[in-house]
Amino acid sequence: MSHTIAYADQFHAAARDAQTQLRAMANIDPTSVLHQVPLPAGSWLRDQIAGVIACLEADTADYCEHIAASPQVMFTAAWRPARFVCLDCVQTLRTPTAVEDFTCDQCHQRHDVIHTRVTAVGPVLFAYGRCTRCLDPLTGA
Ligand SMILES: [Zn+2]
Ligand SMILES: [Zn+2]
Repeated sequence: MSHTIAYADQFHAAARDAQTQLRAMANIDPTSVLHQVPLPAGSWLRDQIAGVIACLEADTADYCEHIAASPQVMFTAAWRPARFVCLDCVQTLRTPTAVEDFTCDQCHQRHDVIHTRVTAVGPVLFAYGRCTRCLDPLTGA
């Protein structure tokens, strides 16, 4: 049995767990919608996700103590770049200040309404908040 195949199995299992987690989070807010998000080249979200992947690949990520070498569901946020935590530590990703809660991750302006979104990238759940103007007008993502 190849090590690579075992790793791939674990990766897919973790990615499935991430999807399950995403659905569970969506159920907390009945108005929320799960959809596949198109990521056209040059879009802000695509760049963010590329950054998440690059950080994991370059091994510059900072993990909570519970994240092991084998693939598992991990959480990260636009306002805490390079920080990856397990479900138990997700509270530690909270924004440090209330001002930050109302700051758009894309335009970095303060707004009264910030839309928080979570997107799954394989086993990684990436959270971000954008103002109404910065949200994708087609998908609301
Ligand atoms: Zn942890
Ligand atoms: Zn914005």
